[in-house]
Amino acid sequence: LLSNRLQAVSKMVDTNARVADIGSDHAYLPVELIENNTIDYAIAGEVASGPMSRSKEDIDKFGLSKKIDVRLGDGLAVIEAADKIDTVVIAGMGGILICDILTRATENQLSNVNTLILQPNIGEPLVRHWLIENGFAIVDEDLLEDEHHDYEIIKAQKVTNSSELSEAQYLMGPILMKRKSADFINKWQRKLNSYQKAVANMKHAKEIDTKKIHKMQQYIKYVEEIL
Ligand code: SAM
Repeated sequence: LLSNRLQAVSKMVDTNARVADIGSDHAYLPVELIENNTIDYAIAGEVASGPMSRSKEDIDKFGLSKKIDVRLGDGLAVIEAADKIDTVVIAGMGGILICDILTRATENQLSNVNTLILQPNIGEPLVRHWLIENGFAIVDEDLLEDEHHDYEIIKAQKVTNSSELSEAQYLMGPILMKRKSADFINKWQRKLNSYQKAVANMKHAKEIDTKKIHKMQQYIKYVEEIL
């Protein structure tokens, strides 16, 4: 049922977690987590009423409505403190939207949340910055190639003191950099090539943007150091 991408997201969820899957669309993730007995309760939050009512019908059909609450709403507004949600999953959106959804969450909605599992389609460094600036530590990461796209998954836990990361760690992921999987090396080899091409093109442009070239050269240095 699940794509490789959502399967990798589901593996990050702790046993018996109380999960809110925000932007759940078809609610595949909560259904899988309940069916394989990882968890016992989830909220499937969705801002669009079409997917929301379709997944409600499916969940009723499969007799899962006691375990999965499908709720229509914007971001974490679907969560109340009484739900005792401890894990929020946000998958399949851009990093800007993920950070925006998290920034707009109230203290009440986040009161029991100690784990975030985030899968940005792009803009991973933004997401890492948000986490560190908001009292989370990155505890696990995964990277996989699925249907010609590289996906990163970031799991974070609330901590009393979150430690800063280096620029290279924000870019490539502190745990992914240590692990250096084959998919990681492939991704960054490809990125390195595109950064090098971009620098060459920028140097031949009519108006030379030295700031941009410098930034790109910095990225090249980080990536070359790690590969
Ligand atoms: N999470 C699923 C996955 O990873 O396959 C679905 C990803 S889908 C590309 C993004 C979903 O997020 C859409 O169904 C969209 O309606 C929903 N969405 C976008 N902004 C949202 C928000 N502010 N609150 C809740 N859902 C939102």
